[in-house]
Amino acid sequence: MTLLDTTTEPTADRQRTYEVRTFGCQMNVHDSERLSGSLEAAGYRRADDGVEADVVVINTCAVRENADNKLYGTLGHLAAAKREHDGMQIAVGGCLAQKDKSVILDKAPWVDVVFGTHNMGSLPTLLERARHNGDAQLEILEALEVFPSTLPTRRESAASGWVSISVGCNNTCTFCIVPSLRGKERDRRPGDILSEIGLLVDDGAIEVTLLGQNVNSYGVEFGDRLAFGKLLRAAGAIEGLERIRFTSPHPAAFTDDVIDAMAETPAVMPQLHMPLQSGSDRILKAMRRSYRSERFLGILDRVRAKMPHAAISTDIIVGFPGETDEDFEETMRVVEQARFGSAFTFQYSIRPGTPAATLPDQLPKAVVQERYERLIALQERISHEENQKLIGTAVEVLVAPAEGRRDAETSRLSGRAEDGRLVHFELTPGSVEPRPGDIASVVVSRAAPFYLIADSANGAPIPVRRTRAGDAWDRDQAESCAVPAHAPAAGGGVSLGLPSLRDGIPLRPGL
Ligand code: SF4
Repeated sequence: MTLLDTTTEPTADRQRTYEVRTFGCQMNVHDSERLSGSLEAAGYRRADDGVEADVVVINTCAVRENADNKLYGTLGHLAAAKREHDGMQIAVGGCLAQKDKSVILDKAPWVDVVFGTHNMGSLPTLLERARHNGDAQLEILEALEVFPSTLPTRRESAASGWVSISVGCNNTCTFCIVPSLRGKERDRRPGDILSEIGLLVDDGAIEVTLLGQNVNSYGVEFGDRLAFGKLLRAAGAIEGLERIRFTSPHPAAFTDDVIDAMAETPAVMPQLHMPLQSGSDRILKAMRRSYRSERFLGILDRVRAKMPHAAISTDIIVGFPGETDEDFEETMRVVEQARFGSAFTFQYSIRPGTPAATLPDQLPKAVVQERYERLIALQERISHEENQKLIGTAVEVLVAPAEGRRDAETSRLSGRAEDGRLVHFELTPGSVEPRPGDIASVVVSRAAPFYLIADSANGAPIPVRRTRAGDAWDRDQAESCAVPAHAPAAGGGVSLGLPSLRDGIPLRPGL
């Protein structure tokens, strides 16, 4: 059924097209898949690359720096496009919409729909109402209407899927806008999560990433403090699911049963992304993050004791209000000790509406910049050293679609190793070319700070394992060309119950 009445519109004789532009974190990318799925369920079609869509949806983020500038800059460009494009609609959703509400319509009255983080499923109805009434629609709910994962999805990857296990957050980090925009933590029932994972696997996925603002407090809503570890184990028992990742855990809520579940569940990948934010206990306190650096490092020790090859990454904020040179040196000390494989580093900037925004002692930009550069240099050195330790080791790479200049110039393919590291590998003569979603077994030959190279030492063909995800990719290609799909390889036989699939391997920066 379609919610669209296209008979009176300029595009009446064809299906209306959409484009979703995503600003922000992985949570937002996942929400955008839901928005795309809702639109397709309502009869819209994704606009072809380079062709202006009839409906442009901007899924905003209020967490990252310059979110406002980015949104209003984009809306300015779209205003001009809309003047030339009869029947075009613009919708703004996500965190910034939840925060700014009607301000968006005041500043950009050419916007047709503003919706919040709790009512993503209403987008097609709001677009239809705006067209019918000829009037902008604003709908922001203060509580979650439908759990986002129960909305239709248009997945961006055949091999990989994201599954929300919770939304919202019960913490009150002083720099963070999430609790006021996404509300208190709401946990999905384990049965719902597992059946969604099962559907993804039936659909060809071999990798899932479990998403939540604070995954290891999962279960707090239904009174089971050990629920996250149990969930990992239960997901690990799903046949056909080869790689489980999750993001992000909070150090304060990280318990040893989760480490045991990670180590004892083969499908859980040796990877942990755990935000540090600061190495200074004084700053952690000011951030209202209830762990201290010693606890953080203790978790890393226990993870590495059980999973020596785990790649650990983190998020760090530099220049929080009141951060002294000594505080920053503490961060440098902890980073040196933690030996992160990689880190997402941010310069603190004021987020209106957060407690930290009104703290005294906001630091001068030059001070923050200098510390930031020192931290980046340190982390880059450590990342490089950690990657160099992998030279000569065998890694299993989940192949991503060939894209980007690097691959074109070198004829290498790319993908993620089990620990999440990016690997570029040479396809030696005689090798069976892997499809995106297949697994290639290669040996690391070189290391850079941000990726590994696996070029063959002897030119022998590389072993490739064909997977159901590769079969799904084949069928997706065939569908998009409107030719019959190949029969699946042995062991395939999957059904595509969900909307058509596209490629891309997720890499998650956390909060
Ligand atoms: S930083 Fe993470 S844990 Fe802290 S309030 Fe924001 S979402 Fe919650």
